[in-house]
Amino acid sequence: AAPVAFIGGVSRAAHVGILMKGSTALEALARIRTAIFDKTGTLTTGGAELIEIDLAPHQRADELLRLLASLEQASHHVLASSIVQLARRKGLVLCQPHQVREHRGEGLEGQVDGTTVSAGSRPLVLADKPLPYWAQDGEERHRDAAVLRVFLALNGELVGIFTFADTLRADVPDTLVALRTCGVNRIMLLTGDDDTAANKVAASLGLDATISKATPADKVRTVEVEKRAAPTMMIGDGINDAPALAAADVGIALASRGGTISSEAADVVILTDRVQPVAEALLIAKHTRTIAL
Ligand code: ADP
Ligand code: MG
Repeated sequence: AAPVAFIGGVSRAAHVGILMKGSTALEALARIRTAIFDKTGTLTTGGAELIEIDLAPHQRADELLRLLASLEQASHHVLASSIVQLARRKGLVLCQPHQVREHRGEGLEGQVDGTTVSAGSRPLVLADKPLPYWAQDGEERHRDAAVLRVFLALNGELVGIFTFADTLRADVPDTLVALRTCGVNRIMLLTGDDDTAANKVAASLGLDATISKATPADKVRTVEVEKRAAPTMMIGDGINDAPALAAADVGIALASRGGTISSEAADVVILTDRVQPVAEALLIAKHTRTIAL
């Protein structure tokens, strides 16, 4: 009877937008005790809404957005798809970026229209240079806000900062409660973003641990440490999460916004734009195992 029950679980999951790569994923899911969530694009929407652009003197917002979006066409980050869609909606004509180098979880640089364009986190774009005067007001205002900030430099000079809302997905609190009901007794946040952004998201959720400024290699190391203590799943969305998804007992990819690379590394792929299916997958796995035994 066991194989029949497993097939039933896999197809029941598929009906609600959860792709399980075989019955081993289902078996492993039923035993999970620790859940590690990525932040940007997983617990949060990943910068779907642009709320502000800070400009250096003599810069034009639309021209900077055109250059930024042209470059972001080459990126797999959730922010990149938001930026490209925004530019297209504004009717901006994008051009092909060349010689692009992506620094996973930090940003990227490349040639657009003969200009060297770099975009991403403050450390990547600004290094340890001080913030120019025109950017200080915005920096102060967004210090404690749940936002993603994209710094943009042209030929090495900071010209603008794009601030996107990075709101918690509405179904996160209920999902975490449901996971705890399923026997998950350790829930962690693991992000490439900085402390303030991480703490802002973690504050209301009652998490057991928060780790910020994590590189893709740090994410793998965290998964390996947790795995030694208890069966561990990693839930993520981006290319920077792919190695950590592969390292976990169960890797779950949110593929709703084109996360093709992390999907390949995952055991379970969620096709809807929600996190609730993570808890649903555990429930289905537990139920299936009960039938199979
Ligand atoms: P998480 O690990 O929580 O998913 P990320 O590593 O995806 O977080 O994002 C952290 C920061 O990296 C963002 O706030 C943003 O500044 C920067 N970043 C990463 N990739 C890009 C990109 N393609 N374009 C612009 N900024 C990026
Ligand atoms: Mg992410």
